[in-house]
Amino acid sequence: MIKTYIHLNEILTLQGAHDKDGRNLKPSDLSLIADGAIVFDDSKILWIGQSSDLPLEYRNNAINLKDHVLTPELVDSHTHVVFGGNRAQEYADRLNGMSYEDIAKRGGGILFTMTETQKLTSDELLKLAITRINSIHSYGVGTIEVKSGYGLDYQKEKELTLIIADLKKHFSPNVQIFNTFLAAHDVPRNFKSSSHYLSEVVLPLLQELAPLKIIDAVDIFHEKNYFTDADTRALFNLAQNLEIPIKIHADELNTNRGAELAVSYNALSADHLLKISDEGIKALATSKTVATLLPGTAFFLGKPLAPARKMLDQNVKVAIASDYNPGSCHCDNVLMIASIAAAQLKLNQTELWCGITHNAAHALGKFNQGVLAVAKAPRFSLFKAESLSHITYHWGKNFSVSLP
Ligand SMILES: [Zn+2]
Repeated sequence: MIKTYIHLNEILTLQGAHDKDGRNLKPSDLSLIADGAIVFDDSKILWIGQSSDLPLEYRNNAINLKDHVLTPELVDSHTHVVFGGNRAQEYADRLNGMSYEDIAKRGGGILFTMTETQKLTSDELLKLAITRINSIHSYGVGTIEVKSGYGLDYQKEKELTLIIADLKKHFSPNVQIFNTFLAAHDVPRNFKSSSHYLSEVVLPLLQELAPLKIIDAVDIFHEKNYFTDADTRALFNLAQNLEIPIKIHADELNTNRGAELAVSYNALSADHLLKISDEGIKALATSKTVATLLPGTAFFLGKPLAPARKMLDQNVKVAIASDYNPGSCHCDNVLMIASIAAAQLKLNQTELWCGITHNAAHALGKFNQGVLAVAKAPRFSLFKAESLSHITYHWGKNFSVSLP
């Protein structure tokens, strides 16, 4: 069915940003249309421009959206929403002086959430995740990456990947769910090493699940005291054989060449990057791999942010995601995170919006969205706001409204 929206105060097309592959962005690359109109059907955008130029054939039944702003759909390209329990106590302990690493050594952290997740049935976990995704969607986010990784044994990790597949069915087509296999999130205590866990659980499970075609990407926590270079290569080699795209948790706690590794495997994205090296930045700049920054996590843990400006100035393609999870960033509002982070990371307005739409979509391999142009996917976010600037100027306020 063909739909027309007319008289939008502003349409953010990001055409300029798209033409530059989401890199080296200037304020003018926002490509805003004032008093905009857009025509689309279920699969693509048919026409976009100023309302005064709207062809007569589309004027019947046009929906007047004065006082609204339309943007490419918000994307949250890094979340861990399938989990049991909470880590409120740990948060308090951190405020009172314990480090994330100390908490992990005491049996807290990811392994605590693993225990809480294992206590819940598949149905309970699914319901919790649905509630969380509804909340994320309420801010205007329409494409959401969801990682497994709190099961950490063969059966539970399998269950989590199947739950994410169920989430995808449940929310389609309104909300797109991207299913990331992160069984290599941490090493449970009952395995003698990371490579032992990898060979007993992660690799055979990936091999079992791959034929179901429900996994959109693999991911691994490539950090000192978690998974080694050799573990990461073993997982990525298998993923390549199975033709499954690759993502990585890289250079968050230590500088350990995670970004370089990501680029050498042509990964969709390398995420975190607080401790990325100059070589890592150079590698990303000349690659297709998106650098996904998760500033909410650094805020929540009280750590210095990733060197965003340095990366952006060297032509790295940067996305921003929430990292919503029970421990290191319990926040489901990526737009608020990006609004706060923009000033801290020294992003201009185009970098801010491109980071949570176009580049975030590319971090999920969704190259047909993130720009509003003829023939592209009709995936939008709609805000009841005077202008685009108002949305992030009044940070934390929810301007998102449903599409009519
Ligand atoms: Zn993560």
